[in-house]
Amino acid sequence: MASPQEKNHAQLALPVLGMTCSACQIHVEKALNAAPSVEAATVNLMTHTAHITYDSGSITPEDLVAIIRNSGYEASVPRSGGASDTEEREQDNASQLKTKAIGTISAGMLCMLLSMPEMQTHSAVDHWLMKVFPFLWQIPHQALSISLFALTAAGMLWAGGPIYGSAWRAFRHGSSNMNSLVTLGTGSAFLYSSVATFFPEIFLHHGLAPQIYFESVLLILGFLLLGRWLEDRAKHKTLGALKAFASLLPNRAHVIRGGEAIDLPISEIQKGDPVAVRPGERIPVDGIITEGRTSIDESLITGESTPVERSVGDAVIGGSLNYDGAFVCKAQTIGAEGTLAQMMKLMEEAQSSKAPMQKLADSISSIFVPSILVLSVLTFLLWYALSPTHSFSLAFACAIAILVIACPCAMGLATPAAITVAVGRGAQMGVLFKGGESIERLSRVDSVLFDKTGTLTKGRPQVLSIHAVEGNSETKVLELAASVESHSEHPLATAIVERAKLLQLSAAATPNLQVLPGRGIQAQIGEEEVHVGNRKLLEEYGIAGPDDLQRVSPSSTEVFVAKGGKLIGWIELRDEIRSESFSAVKALKEERITTVMLTGDNQASAQEVASAVQIDQVHWSMLPEQKLDHIRHLQAKGQKVAMVGDGINDAAALAQADAGIAMGTGTDLAQEAGDVVLLGGNPLNIPGAIQLARQTVRVMKQNLWWALLYNVIGIPIAAGVLYPKFHVLLNPALASAAMALSSISVLANSLRLRRFQTQ
Ligand code: ADP
Ligand code: MG
Repeated sequence: MASPQEKNHAQLALPVLGMTCSACQIHVEKALNAAPSVEAATVNLMTHTAHITYDSGSITPEDLVAIIRNSGYEASVPRSGGASDTEEREQDNASQLKTKAIGTISAGMLCMLLSMPEMQTHSAVDHWLMKVFPFLWQIPHQALSISLFALTAAGMLWAGGPIYGSAWRAFRHGSSNMNSLVTLGTGSAFLYSSVATFFPEIFLHHGLAPQIYFESVLLILGFLLLGRWLEDRAKHKTLGALKAFASLLPNRAHVIRGGEAIDLPISEIQKGDPVAVRPGERIPVDGIITEGRTSIDESLITGESTPVERSVGDAVIGGSLNYDGAFVCKAQTIGAEGTLAQMMKLMEEAQSSKAPMQKLADSISSIFVPSILVLSVLTFLLWYALSPTHSFSLAFACAIAILVIACPCAMGLATPAAITVAVGRGAQMGVLFKGGESIERLSRVDSVLFDKTGTLTKGRPQVLSIHAVEGNSETKVLELAASVESHSEHPLATAIVERAKLLQLSAAATPNLQVLPGRGIQAQIGEEEVHVGNRKLLEEYGIAGPDDLQRVSPSSTEVFVAKGGKLIGWIELRDEIRSESFSAVKALKEERITTVMLTGDNQASAQEVASAVQIDQVHWSMLPEQKLDHIRHLQAKGQKVAMVGDGINDAAALAQADAGIAMGTGTDLAQEAGDVVLLGGNPLNIPGAIQLARQTVRVMKQNLWWALLYNVIGIPIAAGVLYPKFHVLLNPALASAAMALSSISVLANSLRLRRFQTQ
């Protein structure tokens, strides 16, 4: 026996077939979670997958498949590289659904035609039929009924097999699912009609007309399958973006081994391998260019379609398109760690996450099957007892209509469909949403706080000038600063280190290095303490500032360098404002969003940027804690705040904000804090993301209302509430068609988001 400590955590994604709505999804999820060795299981209705964390010491993947099968659905252990396997099966499934739907509906129509004489409705249709197909009236009654019986039985076996199989498996394990409702509905209609066909005297004996409903059975099945087929197609479309991404990475790469480029499957590339990329090819891995130069279309990662120039030392992203140059790059991140793979993983997670809005719909769905069964029985009893003629057929038709109309499919699809499409559309624009909850939070935002460096500005400051205090040289100032800054990832640090490299200065050893967020860095060089940072840092350590701060530009940022507690000089840097920042702030204002800049930089440079982009408010010289406090302060006033920052060093502020927007650099996406990652770092995508989130929430609400309305109106009509007054009944076949229509319209509404454009 394995003790709890020895548990072997394993994760598995299993394809699940046959789920049609959230009731099915919840059903499979519950079945999996009920197994003692399963730690967590979530089922995605859109992608038809179960993600399971389990103890591999006490349960096997085959056992998990058996659990899913026993709950009434199909699953199989994926073979290695098994994605194509399930895809094939899904395609097979789709084309079968189509054939069966068309076949069953045609058979149902034929049945309806053939049973016209039986119904004796004496309607206009009847008279017309009598003229066109007079022979129908010549077929002996019994022969006709028996052929209808045979046709229906064959249709049920052929088209309804999987549905009945699923219902039966669930029943055997003491549960019920959506297919149980359909089975009960069509099964009882079929049984009733069969008895009426072969033993009509039983009904006559009780004073009932031996009516037959064979055409209803076929039409219910037919419309149900038609609905599932259309739904399948729409779902595939909603997942389109994810599939498009998956197809981007080439299967093979030209790896240079022993001076020669050989074609290898991408799975055999190792970190550090030199990979040759030719013009017009997609880049197979994330890497750093070691030879050559080119321009690259990174639009699939960043949403920006203008090609970017790349040369030796630059990073390239796997999946992006190489335009005109041939180059060699050193493979950096491989497989699941690659940028594209991370993006897809995030997208998949986002798509399977639920919007808080869906919770109500889910709780309704999970009690749906039993409630509907009870409602159906009640309807039957009430009608039978209350109708003046004790009409068995009226009561029976209503009960069946309820069983078939009641699938809360539309309810279950309402928010996942919208999220799936929105996440895909976002990714095309260069916006990665982390999930449904993130989308909802972002949609409610009424103020956006910007970190300056790397968001409104390019985050690539340039050294403008270097000043040395008397008795020191500029070279020494730069050398000391670069030695310390080589340990920092701050944009200012990068600029200083780059300048030192350019002058081929050497770096000194720096023990006891400490990063002081929002201020700078301190370290020890030789015997002496070195401080590199802003005025706050000088004040903190009691170091006297310069008597006269000479600057080239009035709005630059200076980094002071002090050694042994004495200022030896400073470096002046300036970051360029991004060309899109002004339009981004303007677009946000048009959405009635307050824009605020919070920066750790000095007043002059903060104000210059603020007035250039015309931001509403600006706060400077802020320490990271002060930024956090400012967010809390706004939240206390009831504002919904989005914070835009460059990810790692603003993590706390991003987490505190109602919605965190991280400027992603393209790598380590999964580690980025926040709800949204802007891949290309384009600030125009901030209003774009908010607009898309708002539009998505609007679609989710429409979907939920529509699904709710459909059930709230459909179920009572099916129960026959309109019959006493208006003589309106929902024919069971129509009920089935209406059900199909409701989920299709929810999906179609969600697909509108694919065409979303930033205003
Ligand atoms: P922001 O991103 O809002 O510009 P930060 O909190 O990243 O602000 O930094 C604030 C200020 O702290 C910078 O403008 C700079 O003066 C100083 N600073 C932070 N890190 C460093 C560093 N590594 N080297 C020099 N100065 C730094
Ligand atoms: Mg910053």
